[in-house]
Amino acid sequence: MQATTIELKEKIQQLWNKRPLIISGPCSAETEEQVLETAQRLAATGKVDMLRAGIWKPRTRPGSFEGVGVKGLPWLANAKKITGLPTAVEVATGKQVEDALNFDVDVLWIGARTTVNPFSVQEVADALRGVDVPVLIKNPINPDLELWTGAVERVAKAGIKQIGLIHRGFSSYGNTEYRNAPMWHLAIEMKRRNPGMMLICDPSHISGRRDILLDVSQKSIDLDYDGLMIESHIDPDNAWSDAMQQVTPEVLLKMLDSIQWRVETTDEKSFITALERLREQINHLDDELLQLLGQRMKIADKIGEYKKNNSVTILQTSRWNEILERAMAKGEKLGLSKEFIIKYFDAVHMESISHQNKIMNS
Ligand code: PEP
Ligand code: MN
Repeated sequence: MQATTIELKEKIQQLWNKRPLIISGPCSAETEEQVLETAQRLAATGKVDMLRAGIWKPRTRPGSFEGVGVKGLPWLANAKKITGLPTAVEVATGKQVEDALNFDVDVLWIGARTTVNPFSVQEVADALRGVDVPVLIKNPINPDLELWTGAVERVAKAGIKQIGLIHRGFSSYGNTEYRNAPMWHLAIEMKRRNPGMMLICDPSHISGRRDILLDVSQKSIDLDYDGLMIESHIDPDNAWSDAMQQVTPEVLLKMLDSIQWRVETTDEKSFITALERLREQINHLDDELLQLLGQRMKIADKIGEYKKNNSVTILQTSRWNEILERAMAKGEKLGLSKEFIIKYFDAVHMESISHQNKIMNS
């Protein structure tokens, strides 16, 4: 008995270092048969490393299916016994941590609606004290890296050594292309702040629908994510939660097969030399851009002097519109997106204004 526990721990340890790490399973455990059949069909793909299933579901509105609760835990244990797939479950309270561990759940994750609340995260962390279990932490529902970081710190302080991040997107009001806007730059910043910490993408909750799952997954792999957590169901259309975003294990396999897997770097000599040469060019161009921006700001300073002497406002909307339109037209011909031009010129313009502000008020 002791040996099996140790073997399992070793297996989880190995999995933790496997790239890409693929976690899949239903949004919610619904029935014993559904959990087992999903696990068997996922195992048959040969590409899935871990079985996920929601046991307690934090629903935005009351009246939706809130999960089967503790009675679903033996279903997962049984699915693990039959398929060999380790299991992962979302926990939001101390009691849920205790229950999940009692039924030998291998990996726990903290959901987006929990990460957002320091009281809940602390309660989960307190229940994890003295326990050796890997914990994945989803980003909070709102785009706040401090809350995400705070959750990582609370779990780390409880003594958990294996901590990973799951990027599931951020909610926003109104309809967008995504259920939860990815805001990739936030996840990348989180990765920068936590070097070496596993970062997994959850394209299911970002997309909210099947047709863009592959695009979102590919994007995350292109950005050097360590793995994917994708929801799957034996009968997606009739799933009790998140029906629109789930796929069958077989569709999942097709998706995984069509992803272009990439590595962060390679030892291939010709690749390294070519990359170094191109990066040198980029460095030169960046230096030139900085020089030019410096010059541009000096001219803005001069304009500031003239405006000051003639008591003219810093901001002239018509001139700003003229600059933007000119840049967008030129940028388009150079293959630069309108979105980028607006963001870039906004930043340049704000810096100009701050320069002129200093001069006007000196
Ligand atoms: C889930 O994984 O089913 C879930 C509830 O996700 P999130 O916490 O990202 O909303
Ligand atoms: Mn879900």
